[in-house]
Formats: sequence, structure tokens, C-alpha cells
Amino acid sequence: NKKKDTHLSQLASVGQIAAGIAHEVRNPLTAVKGFLQLMKEKKDTKYIEIAEAELGNAINILQNLLHVSKPDLEEEAHSSIDLSVELDALTQLFQDQMYRVSVHSRLQNPGSYILGRKNQLKKVFFNLLKNAFEAIPGKGAIHIEHMATEQEVIVSIQDTGVGIPQDKLRMLGTPFYTTKENGTGMGLTLVFSVIYQHNGVIEVQSAENGGTKFTITFPKETKNIRLKEVVYLELEATMG
Ligand code: ADP
Ligand code: MG
Repeated sequence: NKKKDTHLSQLASVGQIAAGIAHEVRNPLTAVKGFLQLMKEKKDTKYIEIAEAELGNAINILQNLLHVSKPDLEEEAHSSIDLSVELDALTQLFQDQMYRVSVHSRLQNPGSYILGRKNQLKKVFFNLLKNAFEAIPGKGAIHIEHMATEQEVIVSIQDTGVGIPQDKLRMLGTPFYTTKENGTGMGLTLVFSVIYQHNGVIEVQSAENGGTKFTITFPKETKNIRLKEVVYLELEATMG
């Protein structure tokens, strides 16, 4: 029996986000300062490239954040999107790249069209698949299922990975929350933000060492896509 626990409206606190940004941007900037000093002392221009790369890191971090907080800067038009086409393309992409994990895709009903922003939605599924891969040590599998009902399009992505401890579920989507050495902690922040803008709901079922399943439900007729500018995290966490 599954105990269902719902955390709605997890609005990450401004302080937490600010601290995250400060921390993330301070590191590359501190490095730039160091390399500029070295350059001055050693009169060697080789440090310019390293400093440039570090500045690039800082800019990337800020760009990721901008994307999440103001996705409409991109002004991508809404269009009718066949999610099964996008998911099949991603399945192919991941399957070609990573032999150690088998990716299975199953469409239950044709007609999984939704109205939305295609590039943003691609990023959503790309990030969920990337996380699934990264959660699988060695060999494993990912199952993608998509089905359409009269009202909704439902997509689930299930992996055989390490799973998420119950007490960490509420952290998902918080900017900069990562358990990976080279993680950004921005993937799920983007995912939640875009799904929310499409009036969708994301649900996660996970157990430590028991794999993870994300289920996303979109309404088919998303007439007025929300134009929120805040990072608003809506997570229904189902704990198995
Ligand atoms: P990142 O991938 O850069 O760490 P994300 O926002 O994409 O940032 O994910 C945040 C964290 O959530 C990950 O570091 C990981 O701990 C956890 N997570 C996300 N997806 C999964 C998954 N499918 N299985 C296990 N843990 C996951
Ligand atoms: Mg990620």
C-alpha cells in the first residue's frame, strides 16, 4: 500500500535561492580574480583563457537562472505539439549515446497533442531522461510511457536507478539542489517551472534503491498558458 504525501506549492524561499546564486557565482569569479593576479605577477597571457572560461561558467549559471525565472525572454510561440514524436526522438538520441542503459518507449494512445512551447518541453524531457541515466550505476533500464485520454496527456519516465530517499523528495526542484559532484541542481528547477507554465502536474514516486518514476500530466486544452515570472514549484510527491 502506498502512502501518499503531498507537498504542494513548494515555493523555494528567496533567501535560499539568493544564497545558492551567491555561492555558485562566487566560485568562478574568485577564480577569475586569482588568474588576473597571476597574469599581473607573471606577465603571462596564458591565464587569459582560463579566466575567460571561468567567466563563461559564471555567465552560464546566470543564464540558467534567467531561463527559469523569465522563460518568456525566449518568446517561443505556442504550437500544437505531438509529444510522441518528441519523445521518440529523445529515446533514439539517448539510446544511441548510451549502450549501458536500455530505453523503452511505449505509446498507449495516439493523439498526444498538447498546446505549448516545443523547445521548453523538449528541455523538460531531456532533463528527466538525463537524470534517469545519471541515477543508474552500470546497467539498467528506462521506461517511457505516454498515453492520451480525452482530456489529458500523461507521460511517465521510470528508471531502475538509485532512487531518492524519502526525506530528500521535498528538495527536488529547489535551485542548486544537487547530490552530484558536477551537478548544477538546475535541471528539475527548469522542469517544474516549464510544467507549471503548461498547467501540468508532476508527480514523483521513488524509493531508495528502488528506482524513480516521474509522471507528468498535461491538460490537452491549455488555453491560457500561465506566464509566471517567479520560480514556483509545484510537486506532488508520492512515496512508495
Ligand atoms: P542535477 O542533475 O544537476 O543534480 P537536477 O535538478 O536535475 O540537478 O536534479 C537534482 C537532484 O535530484 C539530483 O542531484 C539527484 O539527487 C535527484 N534526482 C533527480 N532525478 C533523479 C532520478 N531519476 N533518480 C534519482 N535521483 C534523482
Ligand atoms: Mg539533472
